[in-house]
Order: sequence, then structure tokens, then C-alpha cells
Amino acid sequence: MNKQKRTEIFTRLRDANPNPTTELNYSSAFELLIAVILSAQATDVGVNKATDKLFPVANTPEAIFALGVDGLKEYIKTIGLFNSKAENVIKTCKILIEQHGSQVPESREALEALPGVGRKTANVVLNTAFGHLAMAVDTHIFRVSNRTGIAPGKNVLEVEQRLLRLVPREFLLDAHHWLILHGRYTCTARKPRCGSCIIEDLCEFKQKRDYLE
Ligand code: SF4
Repeated sequence: MNKQKRTEIFTRLRDANPNPTTELNYSSAFELLIAVILSAQATDVGVNKATDKLFPVANTPEAIFALGVDGLKEYIKTIGLFNSKAENVIKTCKILIEQHGSQVPESREALEALPGVGRKTANVVLNTAFGHLAMAVDTHIFRVSNRTGIAPGKNVLEVEQRLLRLVPREFLLDAHHWLILHGRYTCTARKPRCGSCIIEDLCEFKQKRDYLE
């Protein structure tokens, strides 16, 4: 795919949604960090249901740490993998209190050192809370980048690096939100909605003709 096409794709995605953001509810970097840890292999809707009850009661490292693992589980038991997530969140709160003055650190290294925080979670926090040009590649972005030809790659790291290199700079800050939302609602895994896709004429997916109806 050439640069002109990529630019046109992101121009259209931006025109359709000028201020995209995550669908996770949060009102601070700390809340975002906790919501993203909880969202692994879970839906944003499911996480929001839990955090809508948790955050009014506890939305600081001290307050969540004070709940303890069992107390926290009561709030997040509807989310998949809640046992290990509860342990990770409590350990993360402890590290934030002891090593980071109860603040979310603005560095990849420090974020990835937190229990339950991998490269993708660190990228979401760096991008969405701190405005870094980071690209959090999830299953939706991986699929859309490969199908369309925007940034094909064999694994998430390859796609992440290609997106950072190939997405025109003016779109980089918000590109991951546009790609996730496009993958979630239009370019879906099993049955992409090519017939109502605003970038269909630019997309290089070979089988798109099968999904134009
Ligand atoms: S045309 Fe189809 S495959 Fe291409 S981006 Fe749109 S929905 Fe996805």
C-alpha cells in the first residue's frame, strides 16, 4: 500500500470520528491503568460495569490496596481471569505506592515492570494517558492492519513497528483508536462489513468481494 492511500484511509477515519478515544471509562491515568489491566481477554463493556462500581469506592493506589485481594475480587468477579487480575492489581498498587509516589509512571520500562502490565497495556497508557506516539496492537488492529494492507506483519510487534513507521505522523496519536473501532464494528473477524465500509475502495483485502453484500 502506498502513502497516498494510507493518508486517505486515515483522513476518512478521522472525518468520521474526529476525537476518538478508548471505550473504557476512566478519569485519571491510574483508573485507565487499572481498567486496561482488567480488560485483558474481556470486553470493555464488562470492565466498565465493574469499574463503575469500583472507582467511586476506590480509585487511588492506596484505596484499592486497602481493599485487599479478596475485597477487590468482589468488584471484579464478573470479569474473566479475575483471580489473577485481582492479585496483579493489588501488587501493582503496592509498587506504585512504594516506588512511584502513588503516581502512574510515564515510562515504558517502569510500566512494564508492573504485574499484569505487558507491552500492549503500557502502550495504551503511554498513548491515551500521556499522549505518546505509541501503538497498542490488539487483535482488532492486527487483523485490520493485515487485511487492508496498511501495515502487514506476522506478529503484533512487527505490525506495531510498521504502523509507527508507516502511519503519517499527523494521524499517529489517534491511529490506534481508529483502527480498534474499525475492527470492532466494521472490519469484524468473521464477517467484515465491506459493503458499508468507508475505506472499501482503498482496502487491499483480496476476499472483500465475498463480503460486499
Ligand atoms: S473493505 Fe472489508 S476487509 Fe477492507 S477494511 Fe473494510 S471491512 Fe475490512
